[in-house]
Amino acid sequence: MANIFKGPSIVMTGYNSIENLKEVMEWFKCKKPIIITDAGIVKAGLAERIYNIIKEFGLTVDIYSEIESDPSIETAEKCSNFVKQGGYDFILALGGGSPIDIAKVASIMMTNEGEVSDFLGIEKVPNRGLPKIIIPTTAGTGSEVTNVSVLSIPDKKTKKGIVSRYLFADVAIIDSSLMLTIPANVTASTGMDALTHAIEAYISRFSTPWTDMYALKSISLIGKYLRRAVVDGKNIEARENMAIASTYAGLAFGNAATGMVHGIAMSLGGQCHVPHGIANAIMLPYVMEWNSVSSFEKFKQIAIALGENTEGLSDKKAAEKAVTAVRDLSIDIGIPQNLRSLSIKDTDLEELARDAMTNERQIKPNPRDVSYDEVLNILKKAL
Ligand SMILES: [Zn+2]
Repeated sequence: MANIFKGPSIVMTGYNSIENLKEVMEWFKCKKPIIITDAGIVKAGLAERIYNIIKEFGLTVDIYSEIESDPSIETAEKCSNFVKQGGYDFILALGGGSPIDIAKVASIMMTNEGEVSDFLGIEKVPNRGLPKIIIPTTAGTGSEVTNVSVLSIPDKKTKKGIVSRYLFADVAIIDSSLMLTIPANVTASTGMDALTHAIEAYISRFSTPWTDMYALKSISLIGKYLRRAVVDGKNIEARENMAIASTYAGLAFGNAATGMVHGIAMSLGGQCHVPHGIANAIMLPYVMEWNSVSSFEKFKQIAIALGENTEGLSDKKAAEKAVTAVRDLSIDIGIPQNLRSLSIKDTDLEELARDAMTNERQIKPNPRDVSYDEVLNILKKAL
């Protein structure tokens, strides 16, 4: 079997790399661009910064910002209709995972007949979409380098994804200068999302030497810089390294997939509206503990990447250190430590476990076989 490594065509990184936008947009000969973002990004002045850069080279650009967090399939439909009716020829996605995922969907809806729901699932999109530049403003989602869009399906109280090679960015611009004003709590939860991507990709059944390389490097950068990025938001070194770490984690899980931390987090998001990063951060140590028996050696490598001293320890003992290191990091940056603190009750757990068991895309890559009883047990521990 061949190892395949996929990613966006071009990834541009570096502080102030957004200043290269003119050159990048000229590659695509774009005439009528639209920025897809959310109200928070507009309020933070980031959309204006992009708007001004584009205006300077003589193009006008419209801004679409009606996107909620954990956006629904209806939001994707609405945004796609707006882009269609406006006759735009180029998309700039700007923001965290929510606007990026919606912009990716809008790009394929311009060139494919049907409704957004027709494309849920794996490789169901027949045609390439509008060209798109993706510019993340948080270090966490990794969506700028993946081929996935995750959407909430409110009437089914769940979240599902579109996976397509046409969802890849034509260009991803990862500029940490756009990340200096992220509030500490968002830095913390998005950083833990990135850590979850890296760890789940590393232990995935679909991991390869390529994804391992990105995943381990990402884990070590997050171990080194996330605390600093949370407590000292203007620290450029910390922001830059977290931006790189999140992108590496995106490349890793974009190829090796995620496992049951995400499998359960998707249900916590869909059923109980727990923000994605928080859901992952809470579940991560519990699911790691349960998964570690699949490869103590791999968990030992996670501990080492997080800066733990494992000398003289058995692999099993070293693997335990990976779990404690993740828990310590999560406590240090102020993440809630259990589901109860998010008003989740014992009576919610069975439905959550049932819904998590429908998340095939996370069950298959998980290194340990997954059953309803075990998911329920993990949820009880995390309560
Ligand atoms: Zn995630």
